[in-house]
Amino acid sequence: MTGAGFPKGDSWRQARRDMVSDQLRGRGIGDRHVLGAMAALPRERFIPPAMRNLAYADRAVPIGHGQTISQPYIVARMTEALNLQPGHRVLDVGTGSGYQAALLALLGARVFSIERIAELSASAVATLASLGIQGPELVVGDGSLGCPSGAPFDRILVAAGAPRVPVSLLDQLKENGQMVMPIGRASLQILVVVRRCDGQTVETPILPCRFVQLIGAEAWGSRC
Ligand code: SAM
Repeated sequence: MTGAGFPKGDSWRQARRDMVSDQLRGRGIGDRHVLGAMAALPRERFIPPAMRNLAYADRAVPIGHGQTISQPYIVARMTEALNLQPGHRVLDVGTGSGYQAALLALLGARVFSIERIAELSASAVATLASLGIQGPELVVGDGSLGCPSGAPFDRILVAAGAPRVPVSLLDQLKENGQMVMPIGRASLQILVVVRRCDGQTVETPILPCRFVQLIGAEAWGSRC
């Protein structure tokens, strides 16, 4: 991240602290880097003004176009499960507001973030620029096909649910790489960690969750 220095002493700081202690640490998130980054990143700046009072609520919040920014706990759990190292190349599928992409950048990743709705991507570009976060490369396209221009990736995080792991994403994951994504029905999924080791794919379930649909060639059809 460049251009550091979020506003100090702003009225959101206490809400951010409470979110970290009650919703994250209090529910078992232990990675101090993830906790520190979420304590620093002004989530309210990623949320449309009309919904901003819900910025630190324990829930997903609408961001327009029928999409949401994920619940803080889910963001933390997914980020922790990535087991990220600084310098990792990370594909973030479903840019949405740009919050997750900013968080990954704050944690030292080289971030490629792909979103199918051009207006959301453009808004995320503007938000990141306004915060001086210059690292993430934002792309508009079908993330169920990955992002060939940035591949291969050490880590892939998918913030929308699919019926199965897209083959293109597996193909773009490095050996010993790791992916976190919700898999299951349209209405309910299981958050799964997918690891590639010795040419094998190992899936480990983490928790039940409910995400918006991943809509694309290797996910749900656009008329679903
Ligand atoms: N990570 C986001 C954030 O920090 O605000 C929230 C992601 S939101 C839960 C899921 C996003 O995935 C939506 O913005 C949706 O438009 C996007 N999406 C759905 N299908 C997609 C696809 N095939 N490729 C890229 N983005 C997709």
